Amino acid sequence: MAFSEVVELARALVAIASVSPQDRIQWSHPYGEEAIAQYVHDWFVREGLNAEFWSVAPGRPNVVVQAEGQDRTKTLLLSAHLDTVDVQGMTIDPFDPVIKDGRLYGRGSCDTKGCLAAMMIAVRDRIRAGRLPHNIVFLASCGEEHNMLGARRFAVERGDAITGAIFGEPTGLSVVVAHKGVARLTLSSSGRTAHSSAPHLGQNAIYPLARAISLLEQYGQSLSEAPGHQRLGCETLTVTMVNGGQQANVVPDSATAWIDWRLLPGHSAAQGRDELAEFLKQHGFSDIDVMFYNEYGAMETDEDAPLVLQLRRTVEHLTGNSETTVVPYATDASAFGGLGIATVVFGPGDIRQAHTPDEFIELKALEQGLAAYSGFLANAWFE
Ligand SMILES: [Zn+2]
Repeated sequence: MAFSEVVELARALVAIASVSPQDRIQWSHPYGEEAIAQYVHDWFVREGLNAEFWSVAPGRPNVVVQAEGQDRTKTLLLSAHLDTVDVQGMTIDPFDPVIKDGRLYGRGSCDTKGCLAAMMIAVRDRIRAGRLPHNIVFLASCGEEHNMLGARRFAVERGDAITGAIFGEPTGLSVVVAHKGVARLTLSSSGRTAHSSAPHLGQNAIYPLARAISLLEQYGQSLSEAPGHQRLGCETLTVTMVNGGQQANVVPDSATAWIDWRLLPGHSAAQGRDELAEFLKQHGFSDIDVMFYNEYGAMETDEDAPLVLQLRRTVEHLTGNSETTVVPYATDASAFGGLGIATVVFGPGDIRQAHTPDEFIELKALEQGLAAYSGFLANAWFE
C-alpha cells in the first residue's frame, strides 16, 4: 500500500540511524548524523532546491536550505534536528520503520523525524511556489539530543539575520511559547591524600563537599518557595551525581558533585553560577569551586508576536485549538534565546512517545503537521 509523501519521507528518515554521538571521538552505526544529513541534502537537491552542508565539527554536519524573499531584511527560520536518542532497551527494531494501525514506528519517528519530514515538504512547496514575502531558511541540525551543537553553531553564524523561528518538536500541534533553561554545574573541593590509617596527615575533600551538598538541598528548597513564573512555575535545583576519592584506604584529595538547575527566562547559567558561588562563600565554603560545564538557555516569546498569532490562527483552523502552552524540556530554541527574536516550538507528535522503547507517531499527526507548516507558510507572518 502506498502512503502519502510525508509518511513515506518520515519512514525513509527513520530507516537511517542517526543516534546522537554525544562526546564520542569516533563512532559507527547507529551513531552520527552524516548519513541522514546526506539524505536530507540530496532530497532537496533532487527536488530542485539548493541545499548546503555546514560543517559543525568533524563528521557533524548541519544541512541548510535558503531562499530569498521580497523583503530581504526579514528571515524566517524553520528547524528540526537530525539526531535521535539512543536505542538501548527498545522493544521494536529501531530502524525498521513499520507502519501498523495508523502509526509509524521507529527511533526518531516522533522525536523528531516526523516534524523534519513535514517541514521539508512544507518548505520545498513554499519555496517552489515563489513570491516569498521574506527570506526562508531551513536548518536540519545535528546534536540536539546532547548539547545542541548544530543549533548553537548556526545561531553564532547566522543568528543575527533571523527575525523569527519555529523549531519542530512533538508538541501535539500546540504552540509552545516558553520553556525553562538548564545550567549544569559542578562543585569541586580538593584536599590532600594520606594513608587512611592516619587521616590527620591528609585533608579529606569529601567532608566539606558533603556539608555544601546539604546546604544545596536547602538552596533548592528555597527556589521552590520563590514566586516563580506564571506559567513555568519555579526553578528547581538538584544534586544528581557525586564522585570522590580513588581507593577505600586513601584519604580523598578530590570530590565533585553535579548539579542540574532548571532556570526561568531572564536567569542565565552564568548568573546562577555566580549566585551559587556567592551563597557558598557566605556560608564559609570559599574553597569550593563552582563551574558550569553545560547550559541551555530558557525561551520565552510574547504570545501576541505576529509569528505566534499567525501560527495560532493556522492551528485553530486545523484543530480548533489555538491555545499556547509551555513545556518543561529544553530544545534547540535555547540557542536563540539571547537574540530577542520571536521563537516557538511547534510540531506534530506526542512528547509522551518520544525517547520510548516503542516510539511511534500517528500517521494522522504527520498529515496535520504538514498542513500546519504549509498553512503557516502560505501566509506572510510579518506585519
Ligand atoms: Zn527533539
